[in-house]
Amino acid sequence: MVLELLRYYGSRGLRVAKAHMQYIWDTGGRRYIDLHTEHGVAFLGHNNPRVVERLKAQLDELVVCNPSFGCSVQEEALEKLSAIAPSGADTVLFANSGAEAVEAALKIAWAYTGRRRIVTFRGSFHGRTLGALSVTWGPSYRRGFPVLEDVVFLPFNAEPAVLEKMFPEDAAAVIVEPVQGEGGVIPAKEDFLKALESIARERNALLIVDEVQAGFGRTGRVWAYEHYGIKPDIVVAGKALGGGFPVSAVFTRRELASVLRGGRHGSTYAANPLALAAVSAAVSVLLEEDVPRLAGERGSVFMELLSDRLSGVRSVREVRGRGLMIGVDTRFNPLPVLKCLQARGVLALRAGVTVVRFLAPYMVTEEDMEEASNALRECLANRAS
Ligand SMILES: *Cc1c(COP(=O)(O)O)cnc(C)c1O
Repeated sequence: MVLELLRYYGSRGLRVAKAHMQYIWDTGGRRYIDLHTEHGVAFLGHNNPRVVERLKAQLDELVVCNPSFGCSVQEEALEKLSAIAPSGADTVLFANSGAEAVEAALKIAWAYTGRRRIVTFRGSFHGRTLGALSVTWGPSYRRGFPVLEDVVFLPFNAEPAVLEKMFPEDAAAVIVEPVQGEGGVIPAKEDFLKALESIARERNALLIVDEVQAGFGRTGRVWAYEHYGIKPDIVVAGKALGGGFPVSAVFTRRELASVLRGGRHGSTYAANPLALAAVSAAVSVLLEEDVPRLAGERGSVFMELLSDRLSGVRSVREVRGRGLMIGVDTRFNPLPVLKCLQARGVLALRAGVTVVRFLAPYMVTEEDMEEASNALRECLANRAS
């Protein structure tokens, strides 16, 4: 008997034979424009040649090397990452997934402040391990699991006066996405994030910015929080960070990170040579190809195309986003629309309850975006008839 693979989500009914940059091909040889990118992981494209080459070289050189020992790929990765480190951060720790990095960030906040309470937001998503799950919104993720109780959910994009009133005095930290991804592609408002920063500071709570989905160039800046002129205490990155390789990171100040020394945190595979090689190559691509600027420009083109093609389509409530993180809010469950798009050679994903989400890789062309916009218009029109 052969084991069955547990699928956490429904099957898309597509077998991938190969993939290159913004395209994937199914086993029948059919080509798809991939604007799903495995929840944004393949933002630098599938099998980005520079990432693949670097990984192959690392495989030949060294595969296992724990941070207690030294190896040259560590220095290489640190040097590369220094060029894009969030302002104020002088220390990084690595993990293997977004959720794990969120756990590490929360542990830093608890250990550093000696407080317990964490502030988070309605609609937020931070991962599915128990700490990360505890600060994630919604019964669909949380039901049946023993989540932490010292967590306060505030309204996302609340008015500053409301934040001021609702933000607890004894919080260890607040964790926030600069653009809510899973929650429906909702960019934070400027006065909201700025007020959040100053209220957190005033109450001695750390500001954790979760850039797992929005970060690494996707919104038009390396980090999405840069659009707001705020200064996080801790920044969490993942998804696109390894150019497709599973790796995540937490950036912070030495003073904060040091609380995890002495074995208070750790993870066997964290900072393994392959992950670090992938990060090095991904950062090289990000900087040398000017990825954030391209993502910003192409994102504007895509938003305009979508707004133009969808104007007058009754079921469309809003086209919104930042850079290449784009959502089309419909008035219904978009799953049939995603299926229809797939049948027309375009892969997208859902966000929130009613949003068609596009997480395009940065090399997406105007032709690809036209094709996707036209396909979406047809799929929405078909649905209405
Ligand atoms: C995907 C995501 C996570 C969790 O990352 P995993 O790698 O799935 O654990 C955390 N935060 C945000 C904002 C995400 O989009």
